[in-house]
Amino acid sequence: MRIIRRLDPFQTYLNNENILVGIETYFSSNRDKRPREFTQSKNQYSPKSPPPSSSEMAVESVLYKVFIGEEKGVFVSDDQEFFGNPFKNKAPTIISHKNRKALTFLNKYSVFDPLSNNENKGVMLVSVQFQPVIYPREASGNLKWLLLSMKNAIIGILEDSKDKFDVLNFLNVGPKSGSSVKFLHSQTYIFQQKPRTRGHFRNAFYQAFNQNPKCVACTIVDQRKIETIYGESVNYETLILNETSNFISYFAYCPLRLGQIRIIPKHHLKNVTEISNEMFLELGLLIEESDLTIHNFGMKLGFRLKDRSIVFRESYSENQDFHLLVDVLPFWPLGSVELLDSINSYSITPEHIKLFLREHKLSMKRND
Ligand SMILES: [Zn+2]
Repeated sequence: MRIIRRLDPFQTYLNNENILVGIETYFSSNRDKRPREFTQSKNQYSPKSPPPSSSEMAVESVLYKVFIGEEKGVFVSDDQEFFGNPFKNKAPTIISHKNRKALTFLNKYSVFDPLSNNENKGVMLVSVQFQPVIYPREASGNLKWLLLSMKNAIIGILEDSKDKFDVLNFLNVGPKSGSSVKFLHSQTYIFQQKPRTRGHFRNAFYQAFNQNPKCVACTIVDQRKIETIYGESVNYETLILNETSNFISYFAYCPLRLGQIRIIPKHHLKNVTEISNEMFLELGLLIEESDLTIHNFGMKLGFRLKDRSIVFRESYSENQDFHLLVDVLPFWPLGSVELLDSINSYSITPEHIKLFLREHKLSMKRND
């Protein structure tokens, strides 16, 4: 039996005590599946009543009703333009969806109050696309509109505000990822905190970026490999899922969750506001494809990999350079050791997942 131990080069850094800090993932081929890795066999629906389709479930959502003009909202942008800054007092209105393909508005359940005198101010936004689906894999090339609307909102708000804000972008897909809404949507937090704070995850990515002599993502693009700061050499050819003119998608070398796919732009871009409108088509398709790929191999292996967290790792600070990463992650609950010390263990390596997909002709790479 061989056990492989890995650290993610994108978030591993050396601390003041000369200790490497990061996510550690172990692969052990003869470990048993844990209960959460099995698919539920119980069929909730009898053969006589087929399950409702994604689009039938999605149209029930309040976000979809805002989009089609049945519910009020404070609107910020669509796929074409920025409407207005939600930090300035705006009453909720009804909007007609016309030929609009995506829309961004203030989240009704925002924990931030943009108009309060609180020192921590911010807005939580949701972006939705016109097509009622639940999963990115069903979006058939339309995810780009949602991403464009999100970009228009961020650029508009940052340009219109004198203050410096932090931005967090992500998609919660499915109930297990924490989403109360079925309709496919992305979320954007634009916030300012006094004193400035930042979480462990984001900080680790920035620390690693600052300590590496060359940008890790740019080195993957240029050389198809990297030498990590802890003396390991990683060949990315064995991990790459797809490559387009502007992006590479690959199975994460040290996955936070089994099957994780990481998408990197081939140009050094700090955040989504630097992605051109044309590039969003490619990015949207790669996210859709990554979601489908994880779904397909999960089905084949009997892993329960239906819901997703899709997170954008980026920097909006003038002082922190960075290389945008988009992580497409299957949902799994955090277990004890992961909470104790960021240690994961899985039975198969990302390289094996790629081989498995190829053997079963499951890879969604369009030019395969
Ligand atoms: Zn770079």
